[in-house]
Amino acid sequence: MDNRDIKSFKGVWVFAEQRQGVLTPVVIELLGEGKKLASKIGVELCAFLAGDNVDDLIPELIQYGADKVYYVNNKLLHNYTTDGYAKVLEKAVEEYKPEIILIGATHIGRDLAPRIASKLNTGLTADCTKLEIDEEDGKLLQTRPAFGGNLMATIICPETRPQMCTVRPGVMDKAIKDTSKTGDIIDVKVDLSEDDIRTEVLDIIKIKKDMIPLTDADIIVSGGMGIKNADGFKLLKELADILGGTIGASRATVDAGWIDRSRQVGQTGTTVRPKVYIACGISGAIQHLAGMQDSGIIVAINTNPNAPIFDVADYGIVGDIYEVVPQLIELLKDG
Ligand code: FAD
Repeated sequence: MDNRDIKSFKGVWVFAEQRQGVLTPVVIELLGEGKKLASKIGVELCAFLAGDNVDDLIPELIQYGADKVYYVNNKLLHNYTTDGYAKVLEKAVEEYKPEIILIGATHIGRDLAPRIASKLNTGLTADCTKLEIDEEDGKLLQTRPAFGGNLMATIICPETRPQMCTVRPGVMDKAIKDTSKTGDIIDVKVDLSEDDIRTEVLDIIKIKKDMIPLTDADIIVSGGMGIKNADGFKLLKELADILGGTIGASRATVDAGWIDRSRQVGQTGTTVRPKVYIACGISGAIQHLAGMQDSGIIVAINTNPNAPIFDVADYGIVGDIYEVVPQLIELLKDG
């Protein structure tokens, strides 16, 4: 494949990551973003799906906007393996030549994307938070935070194709489902054998989750160092439970060992956009704001009236969380 023959590459592809036959939520966001990019450059939006009998996902991908689904069906793709998935995606790209490939910046996406970029000898921008098409030359402008979130870097892939990026989950708007939409299915044949795969998945152990995942919650009650100790999260959980929400946290509390890392909101944690985000004893460092400032309504409770969190808050309560939160709980119980 001549990756410098730019004109021979067409279409926007979304890598349809799935685990045990369930699409990873970021795929719906990538389809939403991919549609915007594809319509700007006047090309098709396509999904690339690989797996072992995951045909059930094809209608979903089409209804969420894919005009075409490139599908590789092989029992060796039952579980994700770097070798297996990298081989089939690489071969499909060589054959069908998409000009843009969007991959979620998930554990799988972060593993797969650099290998594909390296095999195809093209560029990759990791962890993008904004994508646009350059009005002048149609190139993909890929923006991502740099230097600890203090700078936003916009990167282009000038001379080779495909233009590849991983996209941070929770940042792009989700595609809207259209149950009447139709699309084409392309059965991609790749010669994959056991010898191609150097690893074997022996078992998959699911982490027990007693709380709603951050990205699924409409309401997040998030704690910072102002809660003083790990027990503070019990109080916040009480509030979250009454509201039907879940618990988030600043990195400082995670580093202190007060709560599990899966709860961290921010640049090096999870990006969230709940309907309501209640920040309790969180100062509002730029790295924290990067992960929650697009929430619907932000409520901040902080003893310091000058805390930066109040700059992004819709409602601010200057006060001690140990006085304010119990009162909120009582009010909600009464109401
Ligand atoms: P503090 O900054 O110590 O703030 C505590 C706040 O609580 C203060 O505003 C104080 O006024 C208030 N307070 C104190 N007592 C009370 C009380 N009784 N009632 C109410 N309010 C009270 N941080 C993240 O959160 N997420 C990230 O993903 C992240 N990534 C990072 C990446 C890099 C590369 C770096 C350098 C830093 C990152 N950080 C991240 C850390 C970030 O810079 C801050 O250090 C951190 O967010 C501060 O956490 P905090 O607000 O809980 O603590």
